[in-house]
Amino acid sequence: MKNKAAPRPESPFASLPSVDVLLRDERVSTLIDAFGKDSVKQALVKEIDQLRISIATQKTKRPENSPSQHDNSQHEGQHDIQHESQHAADLTRSQMTERVICCSETFLTEKFTPSIRPIINLTGIVLHTNLGRAPYPQAAIDAMVSVSRGAANVEYNLVNGKRGKRDDHIAEWICELTGAEAATAVNNNAAAVLLVLNTLAEKQQVVVSRGELIEIGGAFRMPDIMKKARCKLVEVGTTNRTHDYDYRNAIGKKTAALMKVHTSNFEIAGFGRSVSVAELATIAKEHKLTVIDDMGSGNLIDLEQYGLPAERTARQAINEGADIITFSGDKLLGGPQCGLIAGKKSLIEQINRNPLKRTMRLDKVTLAAVEAVLKLYSKPDSLKASLPTLAILTRNQEDIKRSAAMLAGCLQPKLPAIVDVSIQPCESQIGSGALPTKTLPSHAVVLESKDSGYSIESVARIARSLPTPVIGRAHKNALWFDCRALTDHATLTASINEWPSVC
Ligand SMILES: *Cc1c(COP(=O)(O)O)cnc(C)c1O
Repeated sequence: MKNKAAPRPESPFASLPSVDVLLRDERVSTLIDAFGKDSVKQALVKEIDQLRISIATQKTKRPENSPSQHDNSQHEGQHDIQHESQHAADLTRSQMTERVICCSETFLTEKFTPSIRPIINLTGIVLHTNLGRAPYPQAAIDAMVSVSRGAANVEYNLVNGKRGKRDDHIAEWICELTGAEAATAVNNNAAAVLLVLNTLAEKQQVVVSRGELIEIGGAFRMPDIMKKARCKLVEVGTTNRTHDYDYRNAIGKKTAALMKVHTSNFEIAGFGRSVSVAELATIAKEHKLTVIDDMGSGNLIDLEQYGLPAERTARQAINEGADIITFSGDKLLGGPQCGLIAGKKSLIEQINRNPLKRTMRLDKVTLAAVEAVLKLYSKPDSLKASLPTLAILTRNQEDIKRSAAMLAGCLQPKLPAIVDVSIQPCESQIGSGALPTKTLPSHAVVLESKDSGYSIESVARIARSLPTPVIGRAHKNALWFDCRALTDHATLTASINEWPSVC
């Protein structure tokens, strides 16, 4: 068979642009300025490969009018719709060049978008651990920025020019606000608990009520922490009831401490009994033991004065006789992630001498933020205005409703007609194990699909993909945007303006 006469079209593979040629393209130079040569090269190689695969698959699959088969799950959307309408194999060299550069730009832009970035928390959980817990006060942000730019007197005494102590920047403020003799701080409360137990009870026993052997999110389980701190946990009482004699009966030669743990994310309702720190202190005194109180969400103020549910304060724990208390900086306290430790001076000194302390110490940025937050507490009258966590928790219904109306107004025109938009009352949670069973009345924008064929999850997905992602909560086949924490209307409107027109 000699059919060679029919001229074969040139192989589409021959039209694929080369990396070297592309690197001389002006548009690629702009990409190099923005993203660096190595990343751009890598992207070009990748996109040329994608194109090669598209050509190969189309060659074997023709004729077909479906878009190319290449995997776009990484950057789904836009560019395959724009580009794949035409078969890769039919493109001219300049069209291929165009496509490789354009896809590389999309890929690189996405790669260099910050992975961790601001989001708008409309989940209805104010202190959401997965969403970074407390929003920082402006004073803390300013303090962080000011020390982060250059050197700071982290461990330097400006008066005598000698070495200073890291804790000195905040210890006195903690003491003033809690009534404790001394204080220190580490990276989070989990670390604080580990450090305290290891320092004060290594190879000894710690007595804890069975009703307080908590697990909180992220694999923090009290029995496991005890093990890692090299303490022997002695469980007493029952899940719902523990009495003072349970502690007394458990005390032996190896007992070092009696520990109280805030139950944080659950509450025992009904027939319950637990032993107060004051009672533990009485027992501890008789046996020369230490009372440790892991308070969880650190609270420094009377929350009831703001119409919030009551939560024991650090000062109360110290007054009741706790020798050492530990609590988080980024829960109710409303500051950065850290764990604060306060109590007897001799015990804090012991804690500071533990080599583990060095592995958990705060950096200058967090120190600056903690100092700024603690100072806000010394002016309680303006706290509602200066501490965003408190401002959000105490927001009034009218104000929340206004935010909801604003959100509904800007969402409505973006959504398909089959989505029903309404404003409904809902309940916000404080979150992060603070007052788990208490909720705060709030209002939400509720999106419901009027057609069972249309999943509201697709709306949630778009909301998550916005420049400032908006995170709601799925509940009863609907998407709820609790507007309690919606205070930055400008950022929200700007973000929703970028809502893609087709969905
Ligand atoms: C939250 C919590 C912790 C852990 O605190 P982190 O700040 O998350 O490290 C420990 N104990 C209790 C009782 C808590 O509520």
